Amino acid sequence: MAFDLESHLSAAVGAIREWEEEWGPFDTHKSVRVDEERLRSALARYTDRLRGNYPFVHPRYAGQMLKPPHPVAMVGYVAAMLINPNNHALDGGPPTSMMEKEVVRMLGGMFGYPDDCLGHLTSSGTIANLEALWVSRESHPEKGIAVSDQAHYTHERMSGVLRMEAEKIASDSDGRIRLDQLEYAVRSGHIGTVVLTAGTTALGSVDPIADVLPWREKYGIRIHVDAAYGGFFALLSAEGESLLDEETRRHFRAIGECDSVVVDPHKHGLQPYGCGCVLFRDAAVGRFYLHDSAYTYFTSDELHLGEISLECSRAGAAAGALWLTLQMMPLRPDEGLGPVLSAGLRAARSWHSRLEASDLLAPYMAPELDILTFFPLSADISGATQSVFEAAMTDGDDPVFLSVLRVSSEEFGSRHPGHTAEGQWTKVLRSVLMKPEHETEVEHLHGRVEHFARKVAKGAEAAEA
Ligand SMILES: *Cc1c(COP(=O)(O)O)cnc(C)c1O
Repeated sequence: MAFDLESHLSAAVGAIREWEEEWGPFDTHKSVRVDEERLRSALARYTDRLRGNYPFVHPRYAGQMLKPPHPVAMVGYVAAMLINPNNHALDGGPPTSMMEKEVVRMLGGMFGYPDDCLGHLTSSGTIANLEALWVSRESHPEKGIAVSDQAHYTHERMSGVLRMEAEKIASDSDGRIRLDQLEYAVRSGHIGTVVLTAGTTALGSVDPIADVLPWREKYGIRIHVDAAYGGFFALLSAEGESLLDEETRRHFRAIGECDSVVVDPHKHGLQPYGCGCVLFRDAAVGRFYLHDSAYTYFTSDELHLGEISLECSRAGAAAGALWLTLQMMPLRPDEGLGPVLSAGLRAARSWHSRLEASDLLAPYMAPELDILTFFPLSADISGATQSVFEAAMTDGDDPVFLSVLRVSSEEFGSRHPGHTAEGQWTKVLRSVLMKPEHETEVEHLHGRVEHFARKVAKGAEAAEA
């Protein structure tokens, strides 16, 4: 049965209204009243403008890392938003602050962190990573970070903000950081923290975390794992049968021994934007955050989330929405979030095998997680990629939305020596298969993309004749 959003939303709104009324009646000030008629018209213009979006909700959207939150999260968000608690301090919203502590412990548990680990939600993965890098700088002043050339671009930007040196390490043909080059950099002694990515944003590759782990003691470095996109796949990383390679699972299991990790519930955790999370294995890093503000903390001696966060105001509703979602969709491999992620993995694997058998398209790389990259077999790969991308998106009857990934032609050539790529960059197609509905849609999506690839190839032939 479809989720009855209207009925659950109105139950949530009703329950909060009932609570409000317990505080006694009062009149809203006339300065904030609005004209019903004008609102109806403005709202119509508003929703009309929102139609300009790509259909992120639909399985035919298989482009970027975008999808609407779970409707349970919407209900949870709206209910708390009516109150608008601020999780900066316990006084700003005691219940959602407690919920934040609960969900943070659950997320820590997902990675194998101890119950007393330190962490909190953030407004994004970027801010969460900034915080982890800031703690790195405070604990290893004068030293820089090492990060792969496949890592999220914000690491370089944020090391700039922190005035830390960021050394870029080359990646291998699987998109993983090269261990030989990383160890060379670490041995030089100027690296305080190695940043590893568990699921790169472009290709979905998982860095060899377990293999870097022994260097923590050996070289006295910190290890930070950026699992903003891939973190929830830790749910599928236990020993035994799984859709993930044993190597991939081994690296996910190693996150539990790393110093810090970032995960974005607003990516794979079914949440609306505004929900990242940073976790520190050792709560002692809390000492770096110490500050003393005269006006924020006064209701209790308990730890305030604002005392361990770089940000000040944060939506309590984000914590509430995640808490409610996890009641219904627990962090488990066999129910809740696990099967959502498994469906995306199966979709990526199934599409990949179709691409391998195709005369029109070829896989660029085998998908490690749920990101699939591929390209049209053509003399002009970049041109054909762009044409297929545009033709698929603008088809009036049955469009498909993909994304375009730009890789260096050198990288392309090393993965596909049989194809000549011209110029510095080569464009390939990329699909993030993060909606479980993609699993049953893959056959159709593949058929459509082949159809567009055929059309583009014919067009190129005709142009040449
Ligand atoms: C998305 C992403 C980020 C940035 O997170 P935001 O929530 O978009 O700020 C950082 N690292 C990786 C690996 C990501 O996929």
